[in-house]
Amino acid sequence: MIKVTLNNGIEMPQIGLGTFQTTNPKECRRSVLDALEIGYRLIDTAQGYGNEQFIGEALAESSVPRKDIFLVTKVWMGNYENAYESVLQSMERLHTDYLDLVLLHWPFGDVYKAWRDLEGLYHEGKARAIGVSNFNAGRLIDLINYNEVVPSVNQIETNIYSQQEKNREWMDKYGVQHMGYAPFGQGHINEVYDNPQLKAIAEAHHKTTRQVVLRFQLQIGCVVIPKSVHKQRLEENFNIFDFELSPQEMQTIASMNREQPLIGNPENPALVESSRKW
Ligand code: NDP
Repeated sequence: MIKVTLNNGIEMPQIGLGTFQTTNPKECRRSVLDALEIGYRLIDTAQGYGNEQFIGEALAESSVPRKDIFLVTKVWMGNYENAYESVLQSMERLHTDYLDLVLLHWPFGDVYKAWRDLEGLYHEGKARAIGVSNFNAGRLIDLINYNEVVPSVNQIETNIYSQQEKNREWMDKYGVQHMGYAPFGQGHINEVYDNPQLKAIAEAHHKTTRQVVLRFQLQIGCVVIPKSVHKQRLEENFNIFDFELSPQEMQTIASMNREQPLIGNPENPALVESSRKW
């Protein structure tokens, strides 16, 4: 398992299981157990996904020791004023007495209160690392400027059309690890997997275009968390450590970037407006 080292010295696997929209209890438990069997050691969930309980049940059932799993959850905006207590509740649902990484889900609402609660959890050892999600560079730097703990991670939408080059430059400057979400564009960009250039690269490595896309993200230094509830796809998505894209292939894929998040643009006023109803 390839790992990255966070700015506080702890190690984090570079691939994990995404669990957004995995709300069916049986399906959720199954996908976590399948993923652990395949070799995934990072599980990404959130208070807002409504599945922490099922993930906790799967972790309790699994024979993989808790210490070998990197467990990530996110605090929902509606809980920012009571972030500390809400994380303790997450821990209860997840059947754990510590979390490896706790993120603020969006840069909306009482972010500062919530961040200070996360700092408290971090200092008490209840969270091994803390970070944010959906923070563009400006918001991230503001948070860093006026608080004590520098976020270890920023989880932002990252896929072939939204490669996050500009945000990553700033994140690198401040030592904040890039964790990408929706590596396949959440199913909205499926046409890209038939792209002739991607297909040629995939054929050259005897891989699928999805494996090439994930490999590209690994090679730019991003942590990837593809979601699937199908074992065969979980295997496909995990099987990306036995080949390497050349600089030329990396360049070809980089040129497909449109710097356009499809799902998570926190600067989009319509998205900010609608977030009140989420
Ligand atoms: P992804 O980009 O991971 O796409 C998931 C979709 O792709 C599902 O429909 C899945 O179907 C399908 N899929 C997965 N693997 C394959 C494959 N090998 N072949 C064909 N289809 C495939 O979207 P997500 O939004 O789920 O993003 C990943 C994770 O990132 C989330 O699950 C969540 O943990 C996190 N996330 C975080 C957000 C944030 O705000 N911080 C926002 C969104 C996501 P199926 O399951 O049926 O196989």
